Amino acid sequence: MKKIDLKSMEINQLKQLFLDMNEKAFRGEQTFKWIHDKLVQSIDDITVLSTDLRDKLNKDCNIMSLKLLKRYDSNIDETKKYLFLLEDDNIIESVMMKYKHGISICISTQVGCRMGCSFCASTKDGLVRNLTPGEILDQFYSVQRDIGNKISNVVLMGSGEPLDNYENVKKFLEIIHNEKGQNLSYRHITLSTCGLVPKMYQLADEEIPINLSISLHSPFDEERKKIMPVANRYKISEILDACKYYIKKTNRRVTFEYTLIKDVNDKQEYANELTRLLKGMLCHVNLIPLNPIKEFKHKKSIDKSIKEFKSILEKGGVATTIRREMGSDINAACGQLRRDYISSK
Ligand code: SF4
Repeated sequence: MKKIDLKSMEINQLKQLFLDMNEKAFRGEQTFKWIHDKLVQSIDDITVLSTDLRDKLNKDCNIMSLKLLKRYDSNIDETKKYLFLLEDDNIIESVMMKYKHGISICISTQVGCRMGCSFCASTKDGLVRNLTPGEILDQFYSVQRDIGNKISNVVLMGSGEPLDNYENVKKFLEIIHNEKGQNLSYRHITLSTCGLVPKMYQLADEEIPINLSISLHSPFDEERKKIMPVANRYKISEILDACKYYIKKTNRRVTFEYTLIKDVNDKQEYANELTRLLKGMLCHVNLIPLNPIKEFKHKKSIDKSIKEFKSILEKGGVATTIRREMGSDINAACGQLRRDYISSK
């Protein structure tokens, strides 16, 4: 029988687990603290519990840990990329980036992805499975342990569509925010979605005011359909309505991610239409120069087009930044590292 992963359990579930074992509920709180604050990796290390109690727990439970398979260190900045092995031999990747304002980690929420965005390596073999809350959390914990420094920001923008793994991602958010664990502010967490509209409304109604980021990549529905199959299900106008609802409920500024692809979506008319759509909204556009993958035969926009695109948006009153390329010498494209590693074996 598969053991219960204590790392994936919220504090109330842990309290209930101990009550079910005829133990006191506060043991659940202690266990939570040791797993999510002290970052112990085995039940035997929770020395605040008696040996008997740890033996009892060990019968049906464990604390899952990712195995570090490989770390790639950039030579041009301090970016580090990690490949982790899961218990079922699947592989996921995470990226650590150092900024002036702190250390950020980009983590995966699924093995693979079923959203089919044409520019993304993560989706090329479809969805393999959802990650558990423990597997999502342990990317953060393993990297924090490895670098010996506190991570201050989390971005759910690695492999997978986070809102397609809604319940596990929600649990992850609640656990990482819990004051008895990492106590990470919701303001320091960003979730990136390709625009699963019903789930965006659902998230807005939770009391979890994280930053929301939308992978938009085109202001025209027909064009967006060519690179993002999800556009066949939800129109841009529906996504924008869901964003407005999210802003109203959370008072958080929404970010629109826009990957600039040479001669595909970097022309003036695209910038003009994007400005028209976003003008007046509490939002921000993040322009991303394409990080090409083998399977997507397009190039990144030239610098002049990127600057012009930005300038049109800004003149129209839409706050815009160009994402700094981090760790470009160690293959940053989403899902590319994992694919390269698997195909080299
Ligand atoms: S960009 Fe995100 S949603 Fe699209 S296929 Fe890649 S991982 Fe999935």
